[in-house]
Amino acid sequence: MKHEKISKGFSKPKKSKNNFLKCPSCEKGKLSKGKIKKYLYGEYLGEYPVEKCNKCGESFLDSSAVKKIEEKAKQKGLWGLGFETKITKTGNSLAVRIPKKIADHMKVKDGKSVYVHPGKNRIIIDL
Ligand SMILES: [Zn+2]
Repeated sequence: MKHEKISKGFSKPKKSKNNFLKCPSCEKGKLSKGKIKKYLYGEYLGEYPVEKCNKCGESFLDSSAVKKIEEKAKQKGLWGLGFETKITKTGNSLAVRIPKKIADHMKVKDGKSVYVHPGKNRIIIDL
């Protein structure tokens, strides 16, 4: 038996006519470069480059942009302002503890009047 190693050679990567990045989310759309304005807790963090899908509208930030956004949020003192907190009973009402970090950030003090109203899956406290 002849044991022959057939060398097919490496096939060159095909250059498709549609030289675009496919959307990893819907796998149908085409990604094109765009810009996105980023906000955290209502504060503007700047504009960042993003790859946006023309079909599902999903946008993808690259990891360097994610890092920059995190740095900006830290600079503005917005990083780590989300907390888990417990609802406690006071009389017939319920009370939510506002962590000190948020209170300091929002300049909320003991005794301040606020306006509380329902939102979709949230309770909104307007200062
Ligand atoms: Zn898509």
